[in-house]
Amino acid sequence: MIASTTKANTMTIRKNVPLSPLSTFRIGGRVEYFCEVRRLEELSEAVRFARAKKIPYRILGGGSNVVFPDGKLKGLLIKVSVGGIKREKNRITAGAAVLLADVIRTSIRAGLKGLETLSGIPGTVGGAVVGNAGAYGHSISEVVERVKIWDGKKTRELSKKECQFGYRESILKHKPYVVLGTTLKFRKGDAKKLGKISKRIIKTRERKYKPGIKCPGSFFKNVLVKNVSKKTLSKIDKSRIIEGKIPAGYLLEAVGAKGMRSGGIYIADFHGNLFVNSGRGKAEDVKKLSRILKNKVWRRFGVRLEEEVRYF
Ligand SMILES: Cc1cc2nc3c(=O)[nH]c(=O)nc-3n(C[C@H](O)[C@H](O)[C@H](O)COP(=O)(O)OP(=O)(O)OC[C@H]3O[C@@H](n4cnc5c(N)ncnc54)[C@H](O)[C@@H]3O)c2cc1C
Repeated sequence: MIASTTKANTMTIRKNVPLSPLSTFRIGGRVEYFCEVRRLEELSEAVRFARAKKIPYRILGGGSNVVFPDGKLKGLLIKVSVGGIKREKNRITAGAAVLLADVIRTSIRAGLKGLETLSGIPGTVGGAVVGNAGAYGHSISEVVERVKIWDGKKTRELSKKECQFGYRESILKHKPYVVLGTTLKFRKGDAKKLGKISKRIIKTRERKYKPGIKCPGSFFKNVLVKNVSKKTLSKIDKSRIIEGKIPAGYLLEAVGAKGMRSGGIYIADFHGNLFVNSGRGKAEDVKKLSRILKNKVWRRFGVRLEEEVRYF
């Protein structure tokens, strides 16, 4: 264990830390160095540590959308633990590590509309902004006003436009930025109605994601109809297209994904886009299954599936 002193306090950088408890998929070997940062000074200190050692650093939120490697992950894994949540009229400002669920709860209680359909999505609000998390035709970008980032040198704020949000996409996914927090702007709604929607969605989701399931949510992104050829479209049952997207689950089920298995990883028998760890799953099993399924979907439909999960 290495105690790294910052001006504000002492941050601990741990060596050789097991990765699987850090993700909902419960997969992974060990990371060379690991630390949690609760404020900017600690983040700067952590990055200085990595730079001095000439090792890479990676950022982790709630770990609900990641696949860690089986062996040793080189470098420093920095878990962003910047908290704090504040509501002012129809705006909520939250630290990156605040759970998305807490932001949603705060908004609903205040009768603020815009995030209720994202109820039940695990992880932090920072992670949600990076991947533009969403469900039931809505995504967090609809309410993002600005995002506070650290760009490697200084902190600054990005406007919604600068974030370049798309379907499960943002510029934040492709730049070495650390999200420190976000300000969300909501429309007025009825707290009771919003609460009902939220509860109903959570109930529906619990049927798919049983409590304790070891998974990273949907594995592949759905496919935007505007990105596929006419030939591909002719092979798709149009009634399965939802909000301009072909569900990856539909394509995967058509190629027999349900129930497939590689080592300790299997595809749920009720959903083709749900990779589950039986308990002894390995990243290698995940990659193998993913490769096989991508090939099958490509050969049958001419569609290249893209992972929603992030490999480390
Ligand atoms: C049961 C289950 C259901 C799910 N359902 C949905 C769903 O309906 N819709 C949906 O969109 N997603 C869903 N997901 C996926 C996941 O919950 C979301 O993608 C979530 O927003 C990820 O947040 P996180 O904090 O866990 O991020 P992590 O998994 O920790 O990280 C994801 C990526 O974001 C980066 N990152 C995280 N925090 C920061 C930060 N502060 N600064 C910079 N980079 C950062 C990481 O480096 C990584 O590349 C589900 C997952 C599970 C396990």
